[in-house]
Amino acid sequence: MRLSRYFLPVLKETPSEAQIVSHRYMLRAGMIKQAQAGIYSWLPLGFKVLKRIEQIVHEEQERAGHIPLLMPTLQSADLWRESGRYDDYGEEMLRITDRHGRDMLYGPTNEELITDIFRSHVSSYKDLPLTLYHIQWKFRDEVRPRFGVMRGREFLMKDGYNFDLTKEAALHAYNRHLVSYLRTYERMGLQAIPMRADSGPIGGDDTHEFLVLADTGESEVFYDSAVTDLTFGDRAIDYDSVEECAGIMREFTEKYARTDETHDEAKFNEIPEERRRVARGIEVGQIFYFGTKYSEAMGATVQGPDGKPTPVHMGSHGIGVSRLLGAIIEASHDDKGIIWPEGVTPFHVGIVNLKQGDAEADGACEGLETALINAGLDPLYDDRKERAGGKFATMDLIGLPWRITVGPRGLKNGVVELTSRRTGESEEMAPEAAVARLVEIYAKHL
Ligand code: ATP
Ligand code: MG
Repeated sequence: MRLSRYFLPVLKETPSEAQIVSHRYMLRAGMIKQAQAGIYSWLPLGFKVLKRIEQIVHEEQERAGHIPLLMPTLQSADLWRESGRYDDYGEEMLRITDRHGRDMLYGPTNEELITDIFRSHVSSYKDLPLTLYHIQWKFRDEVRPRFGVMRGREFLMKDGYNFDLTKEAALHAYNRHLVSYLRTYERMGLQAIPMRADSGPIGGDDTHEFLVLADTGESEVFYDSAVTDLTFGDRAIDYDSVEECAGIMREFTEKYARTDETHDEAKFNEIPEERRRVARGIEVGQIFYFGTKYSEAMGATVQGPDGKPTPVHMGSHGIGVSRLLGAIIEASHDDKGIIWPEGVTPFHVGIVNLKQGDAEADGACEGLETALINAGLDPLYDDRKERAGGKFATMDLIGLPWRITVGPRGLKNGVVELTSRRTGESEEMAPEAAVARLVEIYAKHL
């Protein structure tokens, strides 16, 4: 992409309505524009990151054997009357009436709709286990939408639902989700710690939230600092293995880590004092096992091996896809702007031409751009007639992890400069070497 042809409306001034750094940078970098309180348009740069995050979520869900579909945003109130949640949900639910006077709602979540799909099409235990998920917009009329995409009213969520014959099978689905979430967040360059949580209006006993530690987080969290040493890394996992998934579940949840809702002071005090931590965190996901709550209320049964109708055991599992942009920026920025992890960056590398209009510099930049694209990478070439300082400031603000700087002086010696946004370190090398280096860096992210 050439910056001169792109739509990147960066702001010079810091918007006064933004209270936290991620919101400020998303506005300044021209990623989002508020349409109404808690409702945003996704401008091209923000949309690109959103798509990258979605892609990772899809890949990791499918790797775990979960099946994508797409349910609508508008739902029938009658379905929610069946589960009893139409009245329970309260003012967060946006209620709409169509021209025929039928009550509808903009879905805040999809347990009812998916249970209806399930009961219409699945009737035998032989069709289980089954986990269906989608990535779809949700609406919750939050009392205080704030912090940009962190607490929106309209927001993008991945929500998945497992259907299993027994509690044991459903707990395996729960563990499978936990593992797939660990992988998902790590690919985004994030550490998200599973913490025991409270189930709220979804209902159920078993639930963990995934929290990214950040001072601006809305949740208070209590944990053993040893949990921050855990990483999933590159290990192979067999998602069908009950034992393997349960082992990883134990490894990541046996140390104390809880949100304030389930915090237990006595248990917390059993941790050696130097490892006790009280901090704040951003909830980027949550997994639930809730048994037969919806299947019993809505008649989602299968014929069991004994021939009898059996209500299925269910769970639901969410990832805050749009909130993740904010969480990643909170976790990865400096005073110049965003620092995208390689896994989610909107463009892989920025090319800065120090002397636009100079035939040699222009030719070298265009050559680099073509070579990068041919190598499967997605470069952003700043080909504007601006001074170097302005170009660097834009690149730093939008946070591409790598920058190639091209200028007549370097070209005389056959080199360009490759700079890491994170460390600020630069290295001179031939253009082909810079392309080769980037291919290597991104190999595991493509
Ligand atoms: P919260 O406690 O932050 O209100 P929740 O527990 O009600 O969230 P869930 O039903 O667990 O939310 O939704 C799954 C995920 O969707 C959450 O973990 C969070 O990352 C994201 N999410 C929930 N509400 C919002 C919102 N208003 N704006 C953006 N993301 C949200
Ligand atoms: Mg939650």
